[in-house]
Amino acid sequence: MKLINNLIIQIIPFLPKFFVRIVASPYIAGISNNEMLKNVQKLNDKGYKVAIDILGEHVETENEASEVTNRYISIYDEITKRNLSANISIKLTHIGQDLGIHIVRNNLTRLIQAAEKNNNFLRLDMENVPYTSETIKLYKEMFEDYDQIGIVIQAYLHRSLDDIKSLSNEKFNVRICKGIYVEDPELVFNDYNDIRQNFIQLVKEAINNGSYVGIATHDEFLIDNLYAWLLQNNIPKDQFEFQVLHGVPMKKKLKKLMNEGNTVRVYLPFGDNWYDYSVRRLKENPKMAGYIIKNLFLSIFRIK
Ligand SMILES: Cc1cc2nc3c(=O)[nH]c(=O)nc-3n(C[C@H](O)[C@H](O)[C@H](O)COP(=O)(O)OP(=O)(O)OC[C@H]3O[C@@H](n4cnc5c(N)ncnc54)[C@H](O)[C@@H]3O)c2cc1C
Repeated sequence: MKLINNLIIQIIPFLPKFFVRIVASPYIAGISNNEMLKNVQKLNDKGYKVAIDILGEHVETENEASEVTNRYISIYDEITKRNLSANISIKLTHIGQDLGIHIVRNNLTRLIQAAEKNNNFLRLDMENVPYTSETIKLYKEMFEDYDQIGIVIQAYLHRSLDDIKSLSNEKFNVRICKGIYVEDPELVFNDYNDIRQNFIQLVKEAINNGSYVGIATHDEFLIDNLYAWLLQNNIPKDQFEFQVLHGVPMKKKLKKLMNEGNTVRVYLPFGDNWYDYSVRRLKENPKMAGYIIKNLFLSIFRIK
């Protein structure tokens, strides 16, 4: 499978754009705000909450960073206007983290003010290791002014347990995921099972410290294992939620979780940067190519 994944990665840049779009389409909620908002409504109607993400990262000018921030601010207003059950999840490099701390801090402050005005929540996605410490630092700064802000901790990083221990308290809201970037092998758990075990430990540590946890995974072993632990320990259902990426097949698992009174949130990326995002993601993580081919086969043969 590794060989096939790598082969796909080599040929992806030479495939016609429309083909890449078809392959990537299950993951992306359209290009325009309107398309995205309709998808949020559809998901809400089915009982899901949503985390909205404008595709893109690493902007190169202050102007771009400011425009992305403005676009997010207008989305907060739309969420309120349409009474949608959705929050926003951003990448700090999309609002200027590469351009200097004062630029990203300024845009982040504007976003926090918009979240507060709309009584909504802001999540900071976690990017690769060069950004980890600064993301945590900015999170802490913003938390002083408005506590409806959350962060992401990646289970593949060795440092994450210390981060969770130092950050978690009753007001801490954390998404725990495995981590998508290709990192220096010294900094991460390289074994699949070690990542799983760390994921479990991180969730338990945060929950035991009273924090709110977004369990962000499609790994049924993790979902089942953690859900059993949460139930056994009578953890209130308003202390955790399950999170998935839009378009990832989960059979009937999510419906079942919702029927049992749990919150399930769908991470919904959209926007005109879909191509770069799809190609970059494929290159960064060969595993994604395998998922996409699998999905393509499923849709061709209409297998559910
Ligand atoms: C809501 C959410 C937010 C995230 N935010 C971040 C973030 O801020 N920073 C970060 O580094 N990472 C983020 N991720 C990505 C995450 O780190 C993982 O890379 C990704 O979720 C795949 O890991 P997994 O836990 O699903 O386990 P895996 O072991 O990779 O997957 C478990 C099973 O799920 C299926 N699957 C997983 N992903 C896909 C897919 N894309 N398409 C089709 N099938 C799939 C496969 O069948 C696989 O066997 C986020 C993930 C989610 C769900």
